[in-house]
Amino acid sequence: MRSSAAIIGAGTAGLIAAKDLAASGIDVTVYDQKKKPGFPAKASGILSVQGASSLGIRFHKAVTNSLNNLIVHAYGESLHIRSKEPKAYVLDRMKLNEICMAEAEASGAQLQLGRRLGGAEIDGLASRKVVVGADGAISEVAMHFGMGSTPPHLNTYKAEFNSNAPECDSAEVFFGECIPKGLFGWMVPLQKDILEIGIGVESHINARDAFGKLIGLQRISDAIRGSKMLSGWGSVIPIKMRPHIADTKKGVLLVGDAAGQVKPSTGGGIVFGASAAKLASEAIKAHISRGEALEKYEHRYRSQFSLDTAAHRLIRQMYSAAGPSGMRATIKLINLLHIDSIISRYGDMDMPTMPLRRLIDKMRLYGNKTC
Ligand SMILES: Cc1cc2nc3c(=O)[nH]c(=O)nc-3n(C[C@H](O)[C@H](O)[C@H](O)COP(=O)(O)OP(=O)(O)OC[C@H]3O[C@@H](n4cnc5c(N)ncnc54)[C@H](O)[C@@H]3O)c2cc1C
Repeated sequence: MRSSAAIIGAGTAGLIAAKDLAASGIDVTVYDQKKKPGFPAKASGILSVQGASSLGIRFHKAVTNSLNNLIVHAYGESLHIRSKEPKAYVLDRMKLNEICMAEAEASGAQLQLGRRLGGAEIDGLASRKVVVGADGAISEVAMHFGMGSTPPHLNTYKAEFNSNAPECDSAEVFFGECIPKGLFGWMVPLQKDILEIGIGVESHINARDAFGKLIGLQRISDAIRGSKMLSGWGSVIPIKMRPHIADTKKGVLLVGDAAGQVKPSTGGGIVFGASAAKLASEAIKAHISRGEALEKYEHRYRSQFSLDTAAHRLIRQMYSAAGPSGMRATIKLINLLHIDSIISRYGDMDMPTMPLRRLIDKMRLYGNKTC
């Protein structure tokens, strides 16, 4: 019987699982190939206000900006979803990783940094411990244990400029014209005088080339005119969950990008990865103390997130398939019917089904009162 855990990957998912396990008295070691995990930050850190609070991490010191508004640009039309309150935070990813590491260590987790684990070492660990693959989109752990080939992914490229945003409390997204199929282009003020611009495209497209075209768009080129590009990074985002993410016989489970737990509509994976990490640690505790199957983690994750993941996938399909006239008509309709204010009030960046769930709850309440 395995009585301890080894986590491969010190990203947010691995560290949140480590913190949870260590806090319950489980002996847990986290391995990362990098001496400074999370550096350089090739990904962004935009989290909904509710999503950030759900991490169970003291993330506030990593917040560099708050976003109230979303502006969508597509084929000459634009949609403004405005709010008086912050809807999302921008987090410094390096800082967030440092906070997660400090909290995991304070709970009693051991960190072994600067150590890349290969097949033989992973096998050795799995014979004695539950192995958690938290090693990102191109997961060595998943490959080693035959848990499906690398899931479909998007290529990304993002860069930082020393420039002020046109609106410092707004994220802007761009579809169409020069932007190839895939995700979208974005422009986000990281802080007062640093602007992040990025793009995600389907895997056969060169993201760096697409980025070159994106920054030629009038609104973006105006925003970065005369500024300096401070850094630029390419990366990948998985957009589908692997077919299996837990195996009791092999003593392994996958969390975060390694499992493909990402919102397919926006590529955001921190909140889903963190929720999965908590479910994974519950399953590991039950496995170690009562011999329960690790597959329970997979069942719980699927029953909690399948519907919202499917909704995110449909949203992505919708905007990827809509041509210029479809996109323009959608934006015009939203503006005409003032659906923007409904989205602003009830929309949920992480859980698209939430407004519907709230409506059903309200109807139940109303039904109870009138019965
Ligand atoms: C451009 C871009 C923008 C994004 N923007 C957002 C956003 O705004 N909001 C959001 O929520 N999400 C965003 N995401 C997604 C988010 O970054 C990921 O979902 C999240 O980082 C996944 O965390 P993780 O812990 O699963 O994996 P990772 O953060 O990838 O961590 C994996 C770790 O495993 C280590 N590792 C890998 N292989 C080995 C090995 N063999 N041995 C030892 N260590 C190993 C790596 O060094 C790494 O530290 C973005 C992604 C990209 C690419």
